[in-house]
Amino acid sequence: MFKDFTTTEINKVMDEAWQAFHIYRKMSLKQRADFMRSIAIEIENCGDALIKTAMQETNLPGLRLKTEKTRTIFQLNSYAAFCESGQWLDARIDTADSNRNIPKPDIRKMLVPLGPVVVFGASNFPFAYSTAGGDTACAFAAGCPVIVKAHPAHAATSEMVANAIMNAAVLCNMPKGLFTHVHGASVEVGETLVKHPYTKAVGFTGSFAGGKQLFDWGNQRKEPIPVFAEMGSVNPAFLLPDKMKTSAADVAKLYAASITQSVGQFCTNPGIIIGIESNDLETFKNVLSAEIKKVAPAAMLNSGIYKNFIDKREKALKQDKVKIVVTNTDLPDVGTTNADIMASPTIATTTAKNFISNSLLHQEVFGPYSIIVCCEDMNEMKQVALNLEGQLTSTLMATEDDIKNNEALVEAVKNICGRFILNGVPTGVEVCLSMQHGGPFPATTDSRFTSVGADGIRRFARPIAFQNWPDNLLPDELKDDNPLGIRRTVNSEL
Ligand code: NAP
Repeated sequence: MFKDFTTTEINKVMDEAWQAFHIYRKMSLKQRADFMRSIAIEIENCGDALIKTAMQETNLPGLRLKTEKTRTIFQLNSYAAFCESGQWLDARIDTADSNRNIPKPDIRKMLVPLGPVVVFGASNFPFAYSTAGGDTACAFAAGCPVIVKAHPAHAATSEMVANAIMNAAVLCNMPKGLFTHVHGASVEVGETLVKHPYTKAVGFTGSFAGGKQLFDWGNQRKEPIPVFAEMGSVNPAFLLPDKMKTSAADVAKLYAASITQSVGQFCTNPGIIIGIESNDLETFKNVLSAEIKKVAPAAMLNSGIYKNFIDKREKALKQDKVKIVVTNTDLPDVGTTNADIMASPTIATTTAKNFISNSLLHQEVFGPYSIIVCCEDMNEMKQVALNLEGQLTSTLMATEDDIKNNEALVEAVKNICGRFILNGVPTGVEVCLSMQHGGPFPATTDSRFTSVGADGIRRFARPIAFQNWPDNLLPDELKDDNPLGIRRTVNSEL
């Protein structure tokens, strides 16, 4: 339906983005924020047609898509407000001291935009992590042009959102080339974009294979660039014994809902649940099984994702000492529509020893699947934590006594994640300034940054220090009388 961009077309797009960068970077924080708010309005103006198109392309229900669209609009508006506040610029001023025995220079630091950012749309979030999603909003706030590589699985939805961005750009008198929407169902389009000399950063959400490839290309360039890839994770949940004594059934119900939400197609899906062998863990398994039996198989986003789910689940289930706890194969009557991409929720189990020695079981099975890892004791549970790779989140289901009595386990679990959850589920990522959506590799390629929350703006900016510049030649953000009224640290005081 949409033609792949050729290398010649991509070169033109990048030339225009580069030209636009030199105009947009000088625009005020207010102008950037007004543009972002205008995009939010234009997306709203797309009305129901946008939801209908996304429903057709992704198989996600209308309500879920409406909620995601609302979240996307909230992201644009709240990141705009944060952009305008100037807080993210991290402005610092250390004034000169000519009386010091070695005279101290005047030094003033702030963040400045990196340049054109290539954003890859995610399949599982057609709005919030795609065309006008978090990465795009952060890049615009930072002062960078954006080139979106549309996800081929929802290219028409992406096109509608791209038109909304372009309408907003016209209304706000933005420079040509500030935003471009690029189609490409072949990896060459992505490769050309990442390797282009005018590309200065990349934002990505998707598979490990895709993210790592883009990261490698970014690093192999003559001029390496940052590639912020969020590649998913298995989000381990540790069930501690005191908590399980009183709440095994409640915890099971909570987790059944989290594992199966949106057919398990979330990077925060709880893919590994770790407990201590006991009657309480048996209660947990029984209630979880009963709840999973109530969740009918449902259509996944597309046939590629369904095939991956089946392949990875079968591979995991075929491993030595892995057993199925429950699966629901009772297909609902959907006629022929999507009958061939219906995923059955599945829970497997294995021992901690087996899990630790078989790293294949640590890998994400993207979809409604989790494995329960049964430990003999707390020491074995700690060994599981110590052997897990980096994660977006990890969760403790624990009482205060559980936490006080298992300090080493708590430390080990904390050490592997970006968001450390107590008595909750990892699905549902709040968009706020304190959010950390990122974690040690392989969850992301840079654990120092977040892709959710306005703090994500910092990914697309770099610090620059001005030494001994007179006040009239400094950027407004760093002038003595603080004309923008932004928060700054002056001589070590906020
Ligand atoms: P994907 O394969 O990672 O693709 C995401 C985007 O990156 C697409 O636009 C894709 O472009 C591009 N891309 C991927 N590999 C590339 C490569 N080697 N070179 C250049 N561009 C590349 O993710 P997906 O299509 O959404 O789903 C595939 C699997 O990823 C799923 O089955 C699931 O396992 C996983 N996934 C994980 C998460 C998560 O958050 N954990 C989210 C979504 C998907 P093209 O389509 O044009 O190749």
